[in-house]
Amino acid sequence: MKNHFLVLPLLFLIFSCSESVDSKNPLVDFNSSPNEWLLHGRTYAEERHSPLDQINTSNVDQIGLSWSFETGTNRGHETTPIVKDGVMFITAPWSVVHALDAKTGDLLWTHDPQVERAWANNACCDVVNRGVALYENSIFFGTLDGRLISLDKDTGNENWSILTIDKSWPYTITGAPRIVKGNVIIGNGGGEFGVRGYVTAYDVDSGDELWRFYTVPGNPNEPFESPEMEIAAKTWSGGKWWEYGGGGTVWDSMAYDPVLDTLYIGTGNGSPWNRYVRSPGGGDNLYLSSIVALDPDTGDYKWHYQTTPGDSWDYTATQHMILADLEINGQIRKVIMQAPKNGFFYVIDRTNGELISAENYVPINWATHVDMETGRPIENPANNYFNTPALTTPGPLGGHNWQPMAFNPDTGLVYIPAQEMLFVYSHDKDFKYNRKTWNTGQQVEMTYLPKNPDELAMVDKATFGYLLAWDPVAQKEVWREQYQRPWSGGLLSTAGDLVLQGTSDGRFIAFDAASGEMLWSVDTGQGIIAPPITYMIDEEQYIAVQVGYGGAYALAGAFPSANKNPAQNGRMLVFKLGGEKMSPPVQSIAKVNPVVPSMTTDALTIARGEYEYHEHCQFCHGAGVIGGGVIPDLRYLDEVGHKTFLGVILGGMHSEKGMASFKDVLSLEQANQIQAYIISQAKLTGVTQEAAED
Ligand code: CA
Repeated sequence: MKNHFLVLPLLFLIFSCSESVDSKNPLVDFNSSPNEWLLHGRTYAEERHSPLDQINTSNVDQIGLSWSFETGTNRGHETTPIVKDGVMFITAPWSVVHALDAKTGDLLWTHDPQVERAWANNACCDVVNRGVALYENSIFFGTLDGRLISLDKDTGNENWSILTIDKSWPYTITGAPRIVKGNVIIGNGGGEFGVRGYVTAYDVDSGDELWRFYTVPGNPNEPFESPEMEIAAKTWSGGKWWEYGGGGTVWDSMAYDPVLDTLYIGTGNGSPWNRYVRSPGGGDNLYLSSIVALDPDTGDYKWHYQTTPGDSWDYTATQHMILADLEINGQIRKVIMQAPKNGFFYVIDRTNGELISAENYVPINWATHVDMETGRPIENPANNYFNTPALTTPGPLGGHNWQPMAFNPDTGLVYIPAQEMLFVYSHDKDFKYNRKTWNTGQQVEMTYLPKNPDELAMVDKATFGYLLAWDPVAQKEVWREQYQRPWSGGLLSTAGDLVLQGTSDGRFIAFDAASGEMLWSVDTGQGIIAPPITYMIDEEQYIAVQVGYGGAYALAGAFPSANKNPAQNGRMLVFKLGGEKMSPPVQSIAKVNPVVPSMTTDALTIARGEYEYHEHCQFCHGAGVIGGGVIPDLRYLDEVGHKTFLGVILGGMHSEKGMASFKDVLSLEQANQIQAYIISQAKLTGVTQEAAED
């Protein structure tokens, strides 16, 4: 189980719809509700483009804060609010739901599903939640520990709660449910640990299960659930993938076309990432890293397009999908667009899954291009990591991750929260599966780990992001705004010719949609990853965004520049014309100046600790023990923290805070080695002193 993920930082261093009306579902008719935000992507087509234009290019510099709401937690905040009848429904970390007066920010009710905190050990990428779904008088949301819950929208009281997972497997839910014709549809995550992906539909009123579509085959010696699973099983070979789950989780993106009556789901990476472990005999491993079209009433398969056949890089196709009708070569084409992690921007015919075009939107080296005859990427043999570790871009966090794009039908542009990060992939020849920890099939390449602050600074510089305005017809960049750091927020487009985005360095910015000119910006004091939305009440337009840094990169990829904006308590910020200026933002997290225990140890123990740390701890506490400010930076553990270290790591003393015991994964000796390594890294800070010998 040599998984290792965050060699991330390390590695780099080397180098220096069209909509129509569904009479059964008023939410489909977005034109009748231009003032509200009723669905996750505003419409089923997921454009994230609002027809509101009271706030526009001529006056956006006059907006200010109208109200704010504290969520009371500092983990990653990724919600898309839903706004209806003057009420805003949001989620916060640990799957907590709040209903707010959308005009004043007054709290109407809170529903805390009391997520089992120890379940956080099964979450690859923070204890986030991306939002609720609304249907008639109920709202629906998933919980980190696998439940789907229906609440009364007026009171927050529970209508029903269904466990959607088998808890003997490390599944989590972070994505927002979608509702199509009275079916609540929800997927799950867990691909880093090893699970079998699926998506399930439940009846809105009763919570009864209606159908389930598995995305990868189970044990081929047992009956297949559907004809598609029998077909898919022929594309897996030589391994026992079902013992690892296989992957293909549907952890975020979906879209729906009411005219074609088709539901589109995006599927995730393989479990483990490494196909030589998962399917050593080769094959495409259907339906990993694919867009799959389903019948929303039955879950029956219609077609699929696989973006990364035989995925070996965590190149999920769970990224945001947008439906639009585009004129291409003189013809109006019904398309679905996606910029998955693998770095290609795809325009696909959504009636049948045929590729129309694909070009890379970020630099890539794992493939040369997508072949238009076959629709398949042509892999670069030099980046095959079976025999030799391969420095590869994009890395597992992708050229674009979950942060939603936006499509403006007037400019014809898609706005992409893009990023560049390298990663060293390396085949683990001694891979052993352990369901209690990450299973990527990757070997930690210690030589790539930054050893000192200078090396870390080099990695920092080689890792960045940008807002990319992309012409999907010409498949080319139109403009970009460069950011120092990756992992900025999702996007909002408006008919006021605006594009809005929060950044990982804490700014909330409005751009001219056509030119990219920056028209307005405010420092919110903490990193933003969530996408903004907009709505109108009593003739006033509001723009809302949730702030609070977190998620995969924020936990694992801490860099020196990250320390400028330590995560604080998350909040909703809502702006309008003539609003107040931002009040002084957040306070800094005070750095303690601890004394670490004196420990008689040797270089070999520390080196072993370094290895085990990067196997098991870096995903949450940061490579090199440099925390991202979201959860505790272990270099600053105080005396009590060190005295109770084994009680926490093996004894589960802090389970209720989300730090469960690693006793099934680590021996006492390994835990001691990790502590020795943490102390050695603490001393490098220069502010930590070793205690005098007793
Ligand atoms: Ca993944």
